[in-house]
Amino acid sequence: MTDQAQAYTFKAEVQQLLHILSQALYTDREIFLRELISNSSDALHRMRVEQLTNSDVVDRDAELAIRVSSDENAKRVTISDTGIGMTEEELIQNLGTIAHSGARAVIERLAKEQRSDVIGQFGVGFYSVFAVADRVVVTSRSFQPDAAAVRWESTGGDSYTVSASERTERGTTIEVYLKDDAKEFAQPWQVKQIIKKHSDFVAFPIYYADEDKPVNQTKPLWRRAPREVEAEAYKEFYRQLTMDWEPPLHQLHLSTDAPIDLHAILFIPSKRERGLIERRTEGKIKLYSRSVLIQEEAKDLLPNHFRFVEGVVDSEDLPLNVSRESVQRTPEIQRIRKTLTSRLTRELAQMAENQAETYRTFWAEFGPFLKEGIVVEPSSKDDLLKLLRFHSTKGDELVSLAQYKERMVEGQKAIYYVLANDLESARRSPHLDALEARGIEALLLVDLVDGYVMNTLREYDGTPLENADNPNLDLPELADEESAETIDQAVFDQLAVRIKDVLGDRVTQVRPSKTLKHNPARLVAADGAGQRDMHRVQRLINRDYEVPASILELNRSHPLIRSLAQLHTTHPDNLLGNVVIEQLYDSALLLDGLHPNPAQMVPRIQQLMEAAVRAD
Ligand code: ADP
Repeated sequence: MTDQAQAYTFKAEVQQLLHILSQALYTDREIFLRELISNSSDALHRMRVEQLTNSDVVDRDAELAIRVSSDENAKRVTISDTGIGMTEEELIQNLGTIAHSGARAVIERLAKEQRSDVIGQFGVGFYSVFAVADRVVVTSRSFQPDAAAVRWESTGGDSYTVSASERTERGTTIEVYLKDDAKEFAQPWQVKQIIKKHSDFVAFPIYYADEDKPVNQTKPLWRRAPREVEAEAYKEFYRQLTMDWEPPLHQLHLSTDAPIDLHAILFIPSKRERGLIERRTEGKIKLYSRSVLIQEEAKDLLPNHFRFVEGVVDSEDLPLNVSRESVQRTPEIQRIRKTLTSRLTRELAQMAENQAETYRTFWAEFGPFLKEGIVVEPSSKDDLLKLLRFHSTKGDELVSLAQYKERMVEGQKAIYYVLANDLESARRSPHLDALEARGIEALLLVDLVDGYVMNTLREYDGTPLENADNPNLDLPELADEESAETIDQAVFDQLAVRIKDVLGDRVTQVRPSKTLKHNPARLVAADGAGQRDMHRVQRLINRDYEVPASILELNRSHPLIRSLAQLHTTHPDNLLGNVVIEQLYDSALLLDGLHPNPAQMVPRIQQLMEAAVRAD
């Protein structure tokens, strides 16, 4: 490198971001300091790892720390660290392009919404400095002994310059020259206050100027006693950990020394999807051993069905040299996993018990994950069973399997459920008629995975689980009731022949129903009960899925069936009858969540409406 400064142009996306940031008059400008400190903290973490494995580093004994100072007259804030530093190449790569998805999300969102007050909710990283600065100078020296020190400077326009630096110490220093309207950020008390507010839990000491006592509490949040941590601190920590601007739904903080040394904070996010970033939550758990970050995204600390959980886990018991590959085989990890899993399960069970509203939110967002656990993780089944909740025909409250059992009526032999695509369809299911007549509750299952769950479980606590569409349900006898008017067998048989004719292979049989009360018809499995649990799933995963041939059961007392029979008797050739039969079949299919394309029904419904209007 020559002494001359080399000029570079920012990548287009950086220019775009800088433009947005310099225009944005947002209220959260102070976050620039948090972002720079966070970068320093990352660089220090990486340095610590480097020191464990590498003895040939610059300034081997330098304290891992961050030093912030400010000068009101010069309108300058300086952030300095003893982290890994950057080589010239790294500096150009890291500060000339946007590698960071948070910043990208900001660009996308701001471009759409023209709003600036949201910037603080994201981690926009280094570039947020240009919200307060009109000039920024970065000097850095990599920990690698043969790398030269380097100086980077930009006024936040389209370009920056890079030149050689005299710097001898390892690390990075960022001099922030404040804009006039941001000069307040050079006031010492302001600087210290911002550090306290946003960076209190940073694991390295942050000193102000020459002061000996760090401004922050260097003890990481997860190593503090849970009762000493304020709710606000968890929120702030969560936000910085996850970049999720919605506060977490819940957190579990464990801090024990025996029988294992384990300090962990596990967060349950409040949403499965992250609003605007629209990223599916794939929880990230950072794994530390003795405050050294071993894994950024540890996957083996919880079973897969808890993968939405985010947080940190720290244990002194872990060997420092545990590698990515060996994590799974490390016995200490298995013990930690066991502890975390059972504590989390217990926490959720307690939430279900004591914070019904919160649990409802939790269940709506993450219930499908736990159901998946039931299916794919047999060893977790018993734990997860306690957490299951369902909609039911008894009111709007969610019900557990245990509660359901308590409410079973005399003579009831099974836990009944119906499967549908949505609650509205489920509540209208014709399969419920027989249960309703006996005051029997049914679970309304509308998640795709529900069919799998029922198929996996088969029974709960000795009581079988039964799909209400089973035509051979063993139900308590009904008290004699006045028999409704029905069509007689001969007439019905003729109608059945006609219907079978119209529907062809789609039905194997048309027969009178013993159970239907409010509904005119229903479809039941021709090949025995249970099979239908999986149909809704197969429909989605199998392109060539065909609706299986079913038995069509008709309600002989229903006005529609009676009129249809009458129409058939008087006008056997009437074409409208065929249209009604088709629609009868389609409606039953739709309520079961199996109709391949409901829109196909529209022309037929129109035809029926025309006929109705004409008849009037
Ligand atoms: P992010 O930190 O989210 O990756 P930034 O734009 O804040 O995005 O930073 C870009 C990159 O610059 C970082 O990933 C890191 O490699 C490097 N960097 C920033 N600050 C420092 C620092 N103080 N020490 C070493 N490297 C740094």
